[in-house]
This record gives sequence, structure tokens and C-alpha cells, in this order.
Amino acid sequence: MSSVFVYCEIEDGQVADVSQELLTKGRTLANELKCKLEAIAIGSKLDKVGDQIIPYGVDTLYIADDERLFPYQTLPHTSIVVNLFKEQKPQIALMGASSIGRDLGPRVSSALHSGLTADCTSLVIGDHYDKKQDKNYENLLYQIRPAFGGNIIATIINPDCRPQMATVREGVMKKEILDPKYKGKVVKLDVAKYVSDEDFVVEIIERHMEKSKVNVKGAPIVVAGGYGVGSKENFKLLYDLAEVLGGEVGASRAAVDSGLAGHERQIGQTGITVRPKLYIACGISGQIQHRAGMEESAQIIAINTDPEAPINSIADYVITGDVAEVIPKMIKYYKKN
Ligand code: FAD
Repeated sequence: MSSVFVYCEIEDGQVADVSQELLTKGRTLANELKCKLEAIAIGSKLDKVGDQIIPYGVDTLYIADDERLFPYQTLPHTSIVVNLFKEQKPQIALMGASSIGRDLGPRVSSALHSGLTADCTSLVIGDHYDKKQDKNYENLLYQIRPAFGGNIIATIINPDCRPQMATVREGVMKKEILDPKYKGKVVKLDVAKYVSDEDFVVEIIERHMEKSKVNVKGAPIVVAGGYGVGSKENFKLLYDLAEVLGGEVGASRAAVDSGLAGHERQIGQTGITVRPKLYIACGISGQIQHRAGMEESAQIIAINTDPEAPINSIADYVITGDVAEVIPKMIKYYKKN
């Protein structure tokens, strides 16, 4: 029986958010395909990762544990994944569209002569009829992602490639534990069988980690500013509102490009994806590239001088007005209440 396979990224003993999201999605896909969900974790001191990964509904977790395998290195990680995939022959293989997944995914797919769709925002199972060959394909992975600068949403299939491989953007899918007591199997790999000494050609001398203090992605409320905010002075109002509401400040690309906000706050196709409980879009027109990063928010409030602004069509509440007038009123109101 074939499987859906998830590559799990581990940092400081913790499974990365994007991997947890993929495990959740992987479980749904495996249910639809009536197959197993399998996963791999590669690194060092991985004794406890099984407790984090199996509850997502993982039937088999393969662990490659060796002190030389942390931090991530392209060649040994590629060899392990390629050799394991040759053995296990998964039907679908998923990785995060993170710096690791973007490095590893193409190498694995090239070694296996399969395709790879990068930066997917959605994955579904569907059938396909190929007119030329008069052939029907059942249960293919539809890999959905923005294309042509975000102007279209493309659905990509690779009918004859196995595994069907995709990298998926962080934050676009939910993470949800299936069952804390799920009965999955942990298989410890004999690392020497999967890598050779030649794979360890890189010596890491020092490692610097810079953790951003800004946590727009994890904030329950995001107050996002666009080009329409107009000035740094007005942008300061957004920080004040975010503070009163216990949220964080995000920005459109136009706001970032014009120096109103830092790049780490950019939301959208080329920035981060957020799904807060409340998203307040201030002076943002709502172009598709921006919407790609926020339209899954639970509630959206749009503040815009233009009653026809595209953002209004996805907003739950629309305030037609100037941000410089509306936001001080909101701050005053929420401070009182
Ligand atoms: P504008 O489109 O200029 O909109 C400003 C809005 O403010 C208008 O609706 C206006 O009515 C309103 N306004 C003006 N004055 C006021 C006021 N005083 N009070 C209230 N409202 C006011 N964009 C992103 O955001 N994120 C991305 O990741 C991203 N990636 C991209 C990738 C590619 C390949 C491309 C081609 C584009 C990308 N863009 C991205 C850019 C995107 O297409 C838009 O240009 C951008 O989102 C527009 O930003 P904006 O809404 O702030 O500015």
C-alpha cells in the first residue's frame, strides 16, 4: 500500500510549524486515498520527536538520528530522503516551502525523476481525463499555487510521476493533532545504510541564529497598513491600535517598498501568510498578491477612503474613511472598553 509522506523539519527538538501543518493535511489526504501517512525526521537527539509527530495520525515515522545530521546539510539529508523514498515508494511527498524544503525538494525530485510543484497554497485530490491518451487518471494530487505574478491560480498535476511532490507555504494550512494517543510505529533508520561519508563534505564551523522579535504570524490580531496610510507618522497610529488590542502590525508590499514598515512585516504572496482572528486592513487596496497572505483570517475589517476598494469584497466590516481619522477613534474606543 502506498503512502502520503511528510518531511518534518526539526529545530531545537521541536517540529516546525509548517511540518505540523503538512502532517495535518497529509492525514486528510491519506484518508481520502485510503493509504498510510508516513513521515521522516532527520537530525540529532531525536528521541522525543515521535511524541510530537505520531499524534497527527502518522502510521510510520522514520527517524535518522546522528550528530552529523544537525544542523541541516543538503547532501546527507538528500541521500537519506532519496534512498528512503526508493524503498518506500510514496505516492505523495510533501515538504515546507521553507529554506530547507526549497533546497531539499528539487534535489530529491531530480534524483527520483519526478516533478515538484513549489510554493503550493492548497492541495486536493481529484481525477483527470487525458484526451490525447484517452486515459483516465484517478486520485491525483491537485497542486494549487499562484502563478504569473499572482495573476492566476494554477492547478498543477503530474499524472505519471511518483512521488507527486510539492512544497507548501507556511501558514496556509491548519495544524491539528488527530489523537494524542494515536498508535503509530517509529522506525529508527540505520543511517550508515542511507548516507555515505562523501555526503559530509561540508564542515560547519559556526552557526548564528537570528530570531526576529516581530511575530506577525502568531498574532491573534493583525493591524496591517498599506500605501494609503501615507506616512510614518500615520503608521505609528497602527502600532498604537495594535498595542491596545494586543496584536501586531503587518504591512502590504507597497508600504514596505515605500519604507513605511520593515520587510519582516510584509504579508502576501512574497511575504508571510497569516490567519488571525481579526485582520484590520488600513489603507490597503486588496490586490490578489496581498490577499494570498491574509484572506483566511477569521474576521476582516477594511478601512479605506475608496468604497470600491477590492479589499471590501472580502471584508466582514467596511469602514469608508481616512485612516488618520478612523484609527484614533478606534484607539479611544478600545482604550475605554
Ligand atoms: P495600493 O494598491 O496603492 O492601495 C492603497 C489603498 O489605500 C487604496 O485602496 C486607497 O484607496 C487607500 N487609501 C489611500 N489613502 C487613504 C487614506 N488616507 N485612508 C484610507 N485609505 C486610503 N503585495 C503585498 O501586499 N504583498 C505581497 O507579498 C506582494 N507580492 C507581490 C508579488 C508579485 C510578483 C507582484 C507582481 C506584486 C506583489 N505585491 C504584493 C504587490 C501588489 O500587487 C500590490 O501592488 C500591493 O499589495 C498594493 O499595496 P497597497 O494596497 O498598500 O497599495
